[in-house]
Order: sequence, then structure tokens, then C-alpha cells
Amino acid sequence: MPYDTQPAASHFIDGAYVEDRDGTPIDVIYPATGKVIARVHAATPAIVERAIASAKRAQSDWAALSGTERGRILRRAADLMRARNHDLSVLETYDTGKPYQETSVADATSGADALEYFGGLAATLTGEHIQLGENWVYTRREPLGVCVGIGAWNYPTQIACWKGAPALACGNAVIFKPSETTPLCALKVAEMLVEAGLPAGLFNVVQGMGEVGNALVTDSRVDKVSLTGSVPTGRKVYAAAAEGIKHVTMELGGKSPLIVFEDADIENAVGGAILGNFYSSGQVCSNGTRVFVHRAIKEAFLARLTERLGNAVIGDPMDPAVSFGPMVSQRQRDIVLDYIAKGQEEGARLVTGGKAVDREGFYLEPTVFADVTDDMKIAREEIFGPVMAVLDFEDEDEVMARANDTEFGLAAGVFTRDLARAHRVAARFEAGTCYINTYNDAPVEAPFGGAKSSGVGRENSKAAIEHYSQLKSVFVRMDDVDAPF
Ligand code: NAD
Repeated sequence: MPYDTQPAASHFIDGAYVEDRDGTPIDVIYPATGKVIARVHAATPAIVERAIASAKRAQSDWAALSGTERGRILRRAADLMRARNHDLSVLETYDTGKPYQETSVADATSGADALEYFGGLAATLTGEHIQLGENWVYTRREPLGVCVGIGAWNYPTQIACWKGAPALACGNAVIFKPSETTPLCALKVAEMLVEAGLPAGLFNVVQGMGEVGNALVTDSRVDKVSLTGSVPTGRKVYAAAAEGIKHVTMELGGKSPLIVFEDADIENAVGGAILGNFYSSGQVCSNGTRVFVHRAIKEAFLARLTERLGNAVIGDPMDPAVSFGPMVSQRQRDIVLDYIAKGQEEGARLVTGGKAVDREGFYLEPTVFADVTDDMKIAREEIFGPVMAVLDFEDEDEVMARANDTEFGLAAGVFTRDLARAHRVAARFEAGTCYINTYNDAPVEAPFGGAKSSGVGRENSKAAIEHYSQLKSVFVRMDDVDAPF
């Protein structure tokens, strides 16, 4: 292997790599070959204890720094990430199997954006002054304390930074548990933060499965939990956090609608549908996997989509020419193949794809079903793979009702040349993030998060500050205290 994927140790605690081989071994598998490329160990109770104790110890001194000082460190870490983009992108590709063509522009780069953005915002955080006649109140914007981040496997660098950067900017300490499927990238984020000057104990990484996550969530010293994961996991983590009345951010799954009206620019609509279904081999939470296409243009849309999918370059994800890589794991590919079989059983028309690719690794063809109806499993459940369901519609009211008829509410998109309709539809979508004539953009400046079962809270933007800080009101009396006795 031309690149050393084995980390120095499994965990990063109190500013240094830490190992404890008593923890359950976790093999890291390169999705493009199915071969083991590294091994880490799940955190033992002793490791969890060290991480929480070090975070707790470090947090108050960090919070006592000025926002400018905290922000400077985050911005330095952003510069380091950008300077090392190539190596970090290669590691992200080993961890997830996503093509280098994607990781080199979407992962460390978006992590660096978050560090830079929240680094800049740190110095602007203030409370306010409220005059009450002679007397007054001022508010202090204070950190929450120790924040636990728990990640999914699709964007390991980005998720660590989207949680870490706003938390640190507000003066919190962080313990991040990556997905057990992709444990490598977050360790590099921790390394770079320390190199940029972050004091020890403020960004810790511990490995493990759900029980390690649960041990962190249920510890009384933890003040906030931010999870990126599926709705079933979200239900468990939210309930466990509720027991301790902890703050939460829940970034969960979706089954988002993408509506293509008859007046849409077909080329752009097809492009949006490709981005919203096949980027990262379809393993993106906000994907628009229910594509409602107006009956008048359905066949033209499907013909152009099939043609453009023929241009996907499937192969070694390290080859910069490759635009479509493997799925993250054998397990995930099996889940998706199962859904494809269900789609066929339920009578959907397989337009293209549908099979595993005949090569080593966990490759699956980009797959499109047409003539999908609302009650089919492939139209109701999150598949989390490269499977697009195309549904027909005829009028706006009908399609809006059907688009919103789901427990999920992460994202939604519309393609039309009619601007009034576009904004009307965006207003009617029951979703946290909507797109007009585009799909899946996620700039750090804009809030990102879900409605309904897709989540609670927002990541990115100034909105994230509300979820990593709290206000304290201080009443100041200038005249005498008027007591009844
Ligand atoms: P998952 O729910 O299986 O696991 C997510 C994380 O939770 C993992 O780190 C896992 O170890 C941990 N976990 C599991 N049980 C736990 C418990 N009881 N207590 C604490 N932690 C626990 O999700 P996944 O398969 O890793 O990722 C795919 C899912 O993530 C999809 O549903 C996808 O839509 C969602 N996702 C959402 C967003 C978003 O921003 N909304 C982004 C990416 C992925």
C-alpha cells in the first residue's frame, strides 16, 4: 500500500494518541478491494473515562480565552487542512471508498470551511444589554460544557468538523466517536487541531460501536449530544439524552422528494437528479431519492438520464478519472441489493442498473426504477445507496401532497422555470433544506438540518451557535431592593 493507513493508535485523548488493546478489535476495510487496511480497538470503559475526564478538565480554561484567541486556532487548523488536502482526501477515500475525484473537493475542503467559518465567528459571539428603566439585564453567551459528537460513515472528516468547529468556537470541549465503519479520518482532524495550537483535552476521538456512543451519551458530565445517523439510532440516542436533560442535535435520515415540472430545463434537472442520487454512490442523507417527474416529460427525462449514467466512470476510486466508486461495506451493498429485489417484486420498472458490479470490492451499478408508486417500499424507506425511484405526477397540488407524505423531512428540491411556482413549492415543502433548480449544495454559511423525523437542530451557519451555547441572564438593580417585609 503506497499510503500508511494504520493510525498511530486507536484513540486521541488529552492531546495524544492512546491505545488500549483490551477493546474489541475493529478491522478497517477498504471498500474498493474488501481488504483490511488498518485495525483499531473499541474504547474500553477506562478509555471513555479518560476522554471525559480530560474534556471536563480542559473546558473551562478554553472558555476563558477570548473568542479571537479561540478562533485563531480554528483558522490555523483550517489552513493546515487545506495544505494537506491531498493526503486527507486519499485517507478519506480509503476510509469510505468514495472516489478521489469527490474527496479532493468535498471532504477536507468542507471541513476546513467549517473551521474557518466558525473560527471567524468565534470573535463575534456576544450577549446583549436590556435596559429596564434605571435597572438593566445583560446576557452572557456561555458554552454548554462537554459536547459529544457521534458520526455516520459517509462523511467522516466533514462530520467531525461540522460538529467540532462550532462547539470549540463557543468554548466547549468535544469528544467525537466516529462510525466504526470509518474510524480513520477524525484522528487526523484531532492531530491537526493540536498542531494548530488547540490545548490538550479539547478535541478527543474515541472509537467503538453503539455501546461506546451510549456510554458517552449517558455520562452525567456530558452536556450535549450531536448525532449524525439513522432515524432508529436517533430515537435511541435522543431518548438516552433526554434522561439527563441534555442538549441535542439530531442529523438523521431522509427520503427526500425532487420534483421536476414540465417546464424544467431537462439537462439541469437530470444533472440535479444525478447529484441527488449517485454522488458518493448514493450514500448522502439529503439525497432526493423520490424523483417526481411530470408525465409530459417523463420519457425524455428517463432517456437523457440513462444516457448520462452511461458516462459514469466506475473503477479504482484513487484514479482521478473515476466518478463512481464502491459502496462503503458489504453489509450496506447487501441492504441495497435487497431493496432492488423488493422494487422488482413490487412491480417497479428497472430502467438501468440493478446489479453488483463484477469486480472486487463493494460496487453496485447506478440503478433507476421508473413507474414507482407511493406505497412501494423503495418509495417509502431510506435505501442509502445508488437507487433512484422515478414517480409520475400531473399537477402541483397532487405532487405536493405526495411529496410531503413521509415521516422524513430532511431535504426537498424543485426544477421549474416558473419562479413563482418554485418559491410556492419551496414554501410548501415539509423539509429543513430546499433546493430550487439545484440539488445537494451544502455551504457552511447556510443552516443544514431536518424537519419531522429527520432531525432536531441545525448544523452550519450562525444557527449552529444557538445549539452549542446557552444564554445566561444577569439582572442588575441600581436602586434599592423593595422587599415586602
Ligand atoms: P447509524 O445510525 O447506524 O450509526 C450512526 C452512529 O451512531 C454510529 O457512529 C454508531 O456507532 C452510533 N450508534 C449506534 N447506536 C448507538 C447508540 N445506541 N448510542 C449511541 N451511538 C450509537 O448510521 P450509519 O449507518 O452510520 O449512517 C447512515 C445514516 O446516517 C443514514 O440514515 C443517513 O441518512 C444518516 N445521515 C444523516 C446525515 C444528516 O446530516 N442528516 C448525514 C449523514 C448521514
